[in-house]
Amino acid sequence: MSPWFKAKFSHHFHTLSPLLHQSVQPTPLEHPQWVHWNDQLALELNLPDQPNQAMLQAFSGHECPNPFRPIAMKYAGHQFGYYNPDLGDGRGLLLAEIHAIQGERYDIHIKGAGLTPFSRQGDGRAVLRSSIREYLCSEALFHLGIPTTRALGLINSDTPVYREKTETGAICIRLAHSHIRFGHFEHCFYTGQHDLLKQLLDYTVQHHFPDCHTQEKPYLAMLQQVVLTTAQLIAKWNAFGFAHGVLNTDNMSILGETFDFGPFGFLDNYQPNFICNHSDYQGRYAFANQPNIGLWNLTALAHALSPFIERADLDQALALYEPTLNQEFSLLMRQKTGLLSQQEEDQALFSDLFRLLSDNQVDYTRFFRQLSQLDNQGTQPVIDLILDRDAAQGWLTRYQHRLQQETQTDQQRCQAMRQHNPKYILRNHLAQIAIDKAEAGDYSEVARLFQVLKKPFDEQPEFDHYANLPPSWAHELEISCSS
Ligand code: AMP
Ligand code: MG
Repeated sequence: MSPWFKAKFSHHFHTLSPLLHQSVQPTPLEHPQWVHWNDQLALELNLPDQPNQAMLQAFSGHECPNPFRPIAMKYAGHQFGYYNPDLGDGRGLLLAEIHAIQGERYDIHIKGAGLTPFSRQGDGRAVLRSSIREYLCSEALFHLGIPTTRALGLINSDTPVYREKTETGAICIRLAHSHIRFGHFEHCFYTGQHDLLKQLLDYTVQHHFPDCHTQEKPYLAMLQQVVLTTAQLIAKWNAFGFAHGVLNTDNMSILGETFDFGPFGFLDNYQPNFICNHSDYQGRYAFANQPNIGLWNLTALAHALSPFIERADLDQALALYEPTLNQEFSLLMRQKTGLLSQQEEDQALFSDLFRLLSDNQVDYTRFFRQLSQLDNQGTQPVIDLILDRDAAQGWLTRYQHRLQQETQTDQQRCQAMRQHNPKYILRNHLAQIAIDKAEAGDYSEVARLFQVLKKPFDEQPEFDHYANLPPSWAHELEISCSS
């Protein structure tokens, strides 16, 4: 049977001007081997649920079967606030688009596929360590309900890759509804190629924002959508305690999906100034700064679209950002605390809670999960998480008073809260344990963690220890841009 099963492929992006992409053959990895295959996602795409040799050859660059037409995309972007015109797929290739059974279309992309014309000083490779992090995190976010690129499979190899030490080259097979980034539009704008910008805009509206097509001002309608989805995405990151780490405009998806995983991190203790990227010396991409950066990046996008959208319209679209983000964040906080109705005092209740968590360095995820157990475990285990017990008791008293204005029973509320407050998240130390084992040739922990993170809201008692606080060695972990 064909390894491609009944999968359906297309190549729409390939029809755009060659100024936006170049054909590049992947450089094969030596002795490739499967680390993991996302069987459930594969089935949704009509691909085999078991990884096979023919697919391994194709995804690791040894063969280029018929549906694959590898291209490297050209884009640019603002990195840490400075414009860099020289970006593009330096190590990733878009192979084709693949159509899911349900009708969705995904770009199928391999990250770590070798040199391209945009590799600059890089080697075109991705190491196993960072590929495992991207693989696990994209699926973890998906199962938390956060828009994200997906991961279909992960390949390791014997190809040596030199970072701080010698590592092995890996390929993460990434799916995204689109790989079009803010930086694509910036590239067209800053090179003065307005025809190209228009072509890309028309393509993006037609393929990714079909509802905007019939609007009076399709480009403006598209920008408005991008503002809304980006605001909602960043509200979700902050509500779940996720920090992206490198929010450059080339890492911003036009579709508001979490994109390009590098030195990301989930909060352990609640610290608003948490910087997960060891190379982010100024804290530009600190956890609490993500909402501001989202707007900064959207403003950069809006500027790139200025040849085709009037200034007043751009401003009006950008003005949607803050209220949308606040509204989404407040909805998520109400879900996390089980408050269905909206009361004036809620804002103060939430901000006082954040202060309590921050002052007492309380583990963010464990706190909300424990708050979701008031129905069967009472308040004591919540208070036990907080050093200042009087302050904890004070906040809980207010919270319980506030709950009296709700109509749900304790049990109904807590049951619903457990669907919004995960027990399991991809903490750095969990990823690190899986990486250490995989680097020693044992991929079983990647598989186990993948399985646990598929059901973040379920109790999964056999995996209880995956919800533990990080061990002391985890505080020493430094995650940098090196990948
Ligand atoms: P990132 O920080 O991973 O978003 O990458 C920023 C830019 O550098 C992108 O254009 C990447 O394609 C490129 N890049 C990152 N790592 C490498 C590498 N090892 N070889 C070639 N290009 C790379
Ligand atoms: Mg990137």
